[in-house]
Amino acid sequence: MAHIIDGKAISARIREEVKQAVADRSAAGHRAPYLAVVLVGDDPASASYVRGKAKASAEVGIESDTLTYDVSISEEELLDVVHRLNSDDSVDGILVQLPLPDHIDDRKVIDAISPAKDVDCFHPASVGNLVIGLDGFKPATPAGIVELLQRSGVQTSGAHCVIIGRSNIVGKPLANLMLNKGVDATVTVCHSRTKDLPAIARQADILVAAIGRANFVTADMVKPGAVVIDVGINRVEDATRERGYRLVGDVDFEAVAPIASLITPVPGGVGPMTIAVLLQNTLLAASTS
Ligand code: NAD
Repeated sequence: MAHIIDGKAISARIREEVKQAVADRSAAGHRAPYLAVVLVGDDPASASYVRGKAKASAEVGIESDTLTYDVSISEEELLDVVHRLNSDDSVDGILVQLPLPDHIDDRKVIDAISPAKDVDCFHPASVGNLVIGLDGFKPATPAGIVELLQRSGVQTSGAHCVIIGRSNIVGKPLANLMLNKGVDATVTVCHSRTKDLPAIARQADILVAAIGRANFVTADMVKPGAVVIDVGINRVEDATRERGYRLVGDVDFEAVAPIASLITPVPGGVGPMTIAVLLQNTLLAASTS
């Protein structure tokens, strides 16, 4: 039976490290790092993510404000908000919660954020730095996965990492992080057009599922002893739960756990790492401003 990678515990350790670094900065006479979070509209999921980010920031001594705008805000007005935050020296990090309403082009807004304050690591300059292996902000979920692997003692150098999913927020940036010097994996990225995906997945020493389909990865797709990282968050109906559903990953956990050497659960695996990396990025933004 696989050992379970405890994302909650690893995330708590990283948050403790950030808290200590913020306290050290304060002892050296620096002000607290400051994160500006921009929320447009009243989508309950976005509002809940933003509350989580504000709470986690406060817990480590990072100051933050959530600037909330009505769904009717124009693209131009929102770009003005971003420009104002860019030129405000008291703002270290800027995070615009996505998705934005349909009449606003997400890409235009992300591109308007100063790369020096881009704590989500979505700006093309941040992505370029990542691809060529320069220091800088890290993409939250992929960097969280690398932290999980390294802090669990997984040997990444020379390992074959197969990533299922090629999105801009998970699959592609993770492929780059895993390739970079110091991590040194051999990387294969699979997607919806990949031929004979199970055969490729079976070659993985480290298998990462970032698809968005419940129980996509079955036992026959996993090499015995592989490390399995489940990024997926899927709702499946469950009449026994008060809310009528439960969250599951992209991996058939019950079938795969007996074969894998290490596995992340959902929830409690990759999920808690995302905010921890955001806090690391905000600290970095304050340290380099
Ligand atoms: P996405 O929809 O942007 O990308 C999904 C990818 O899966 C695509 O690249 C697609 O090619 C691939 N795919 C779809 N069907 C496939 C198939 N049949 N065979 C092979 N590949 C297939 O999704 P995303 O934003 O990368 O998110 C993926 C999952 O991870 C979702 O469940 C999302 O909720 C979750 N997620 C979790 C976190 C976290 O913090 N834990 C963060 C981001 C995303």
